[in-house]
Amino acid sequence: MSLHQVSSFAAGMWIAPGAGARTIASAITGAPFATAGNAALDVPAMLDYARNTGGPALRKRTFHDRARMLKALAQELSSHKQALYDLSFETGATQRDHLIDIDGGIGTMFVFASKGRREMPDAQVYLDGDSEQLSRNGTFQGQHICTPLLGAALHINAFNFPVWGMLEKLAPALLAGVPAIVKPATNSCYVTELAVRIMLESNILPPGALQLISGGLGGLLDHLNCQDVVSFTGSADTALTLRQTPAILQNSVRFVAEQDSLNASILGPDAVPGTPEFDLFVKEVAREMTTKAGQKCTAIRRIIAPGAQVEAVINALTARLSKITIGDPRQETTRMGALISNGQKADVLEKAALIGQEAEQVFGNPDAFDLQGPKAGAFVPPMLFHCADPDHAQRVHDTEAFGPISTIMGYHDLDHAVTLVNRGRGSLVTSLITHDPGVARDVVMGSAALNGRIYINDRDSMAESTGHGAPLPHLVHGGPGRAGGGEEMGGVRGVQHYMQRTALQGSPRMLSAITSKWMPGAPEVKSPAHPFTRRLAELQIGETLHTAPRLITLADIEHFAAFTGDTFYAHMDDEAAARNPFFPGRVAHGYLLLSFAAGLFVEPNEGPVLANTGLDGLRFMKPVVAGDSIKVRLTVKQKTLRNDDYGEVRWHVTLTNQHDEPVAEYELLTMNAC
Ligand code: NAP
Repeated sequence: MSLHQVSSFAAGMWIAPGAGARTIASAITGAPFATAGNAALDVPAMLDYARNTGGPALRKRTFHDRARMLKALAQELSSHKQALYDLSFETGATQRDHLIDIDGGIGTMFVFASKGRREMPDAQVYLDGDSEQLSRNGTFQGQHICTPLLGAALHINAFNFPVWGMLEKLAPALLAGVPAIVKPATNSCYVTELAVRIMLESNILPPGALQLISGGLGGLLDHLNCQDVVSFTGSADTALTLRQTPAILQNSVRFVAEQDSLNASILGPDAVPGTPEFDLFVKEVAREMTTKAGQKCTAIRRIIAPGAQVEAVINALTARLSKITIGDPRQETTRMGALISNGQKADVLEKAALIGQEAEQVFGNPDAFDLQGPKAGAFVPPMLFHCADPDHAQRVHDTEAFGPISTIMGYHDLDHAVTLVNRGRGSLVTSLITHDPGVARDVVMGSAALNGRIYINDRDSMAESTGHGAPLPHLVHGGPGRAGGGEEMGGVRGVQHYMQRTALQGSPRMLSAITSKWMPGAPEVKSPAHPFTRRLAELQIGETLHTAPRLITLADIEHFAAFTGDTFYAHMDDEAAARNPFFPGRVAHGYLLLSFAAGLFVEPNEGPVLANTGLDGLRFMKPVVAGDSIKVRLTVKQKTLRNDDYGEVRWHVTLTNQHDEPVAEYELLTMNAC
């Protein structure tokens, strides 16, 4: 059978394997399956294509344009899922594993598409926080902004998630406006290549936005500069080698590392056998050990249980793990497939032997297990070790056997459990199964600094919980120390890794022009008609309405109090109100002022304003008493298109009294027709 040819996509062309290509074996049969790599790949030309063709085309688009692009890519990949599943079996993954890698990757892209439209502006500049007033009169202000880096994102990925591993990095990079060069691990690059082909053939991306290196990187790292980003996922050893590349050090190239870690799961002292938490713990640990045959960066490597429960946990885990059918991942009855390669199998067994120097093997024998698949494939059984003296052990805390292998160890009190977790010297995730909030707080305070994520689960959340091992696009993924010190995803935080944060200083006029967001002090634009009669597309940033004043009477205050039932003493009792340090005497209700403000600025007839969807940042700054009058300034601060039909307008609203002193300020949100 001829080998599957895995190409690279470089500077706009597919390049077939050539000199120096590597042969990739099937995980299931161990037989040669594919070939990838070409030493003649012109990596400087790839960087040039990304920087000078892909980057400018992406940066021309707004965040919303790019978010729509991500959505279209995710839809395209969704419609080709079966082809990806079919090919991915060859990596040893089961259909359940595909759901994590392929469906999970596509889902991650959808989430970034949605966050891009909801949480980022329909503009090219992302604002980080609010403006900072730097001068007494507000004529000089500060604003942090983020703009896309001008280089390329180099994504070096691990073999275990050929689709998710690519998409969880690609989505935030493209959303930021930065082109990507993806270099998957060679052992599973044929799956990534198919996903890249699907995306490129859809013609959704501008030229240069996405390139692929199947096989070796060549000298690419030597050509990177401060506008490029390396996002690496893989082993700690490889990360250490790559981050020492002279060009990376000399040019301060951003180097994000997600590497292996010795993640832990703690069984709370309250979670004794018979509680829902005990059963939940056993289920989660068994699942984490066997999903993707344990080839998950987040898998539970250390099981930390109260000393008195260690035996019960071993017995319960043994019962569960015995039921795991191992074999050809294409068979529906198979629960655990193969490791990626026989090389990986040898590595896992070698690491297991190291762990075995400090811990007793209590489940799983690689030389004798029930296998429903070819003997030449990279199959191993789940293996459970018990370390009786974790305080004096080292291997169990620092040896990652990247397979279905975990070590249980006992603790004598919660401080001890935390100490054991922290012996991992930095993890991607620690889980805690407890129903006791006090236990949860103590564990978080003791070990949050050494974990990128802490997953707490109990009877209340278990039906809906997402699983110890699942990094989510909404939350950060990464961890300190041994885990690489990197951080990915986490919604817009993940997008910012591909952008430069710059502190802008200038007048409100300058800052408003750059940020497409009006700020107090910037020029107002006189509205040619009542702004409520103008469609979203017609409204200009800064467009302002000034209302006529309205007198506030005591009768108004009493009427409002009687009508709403809000007879708080500050509105009803002059003497009591005056005893309050904030009020001169009876004052108007804040909500009365808001209602009158609406009465002043609203245009009542049916028009482009479809709904009032909320109000942000409300501040009452000065009390209003009977006899005062208020007037309103309503200014278009920001516009965000939601779909083809309507979008959100954020209005800056200021209420002032007869002395032009501000009495209230807020941001009003309306949905307006386009
Ligand atoms: P690896 O051997 O470190 O390889 C990772 C990536 O680096 C691959 O694409 C590999 O390409 C590339 N690479 C290796 N040496 C290189 C070099 N000298 N120059 C340029 N590129 C080089 O890791 P792996 O075996 O693929 O993956 C397993 C490891 O990844 C485990 O330790 C696991 O814990 C970790 N991992 C971490 C995370 C996380 O998010 N923290 C996620 C998944 C996996 P080739 O394949 O072509 O060598």
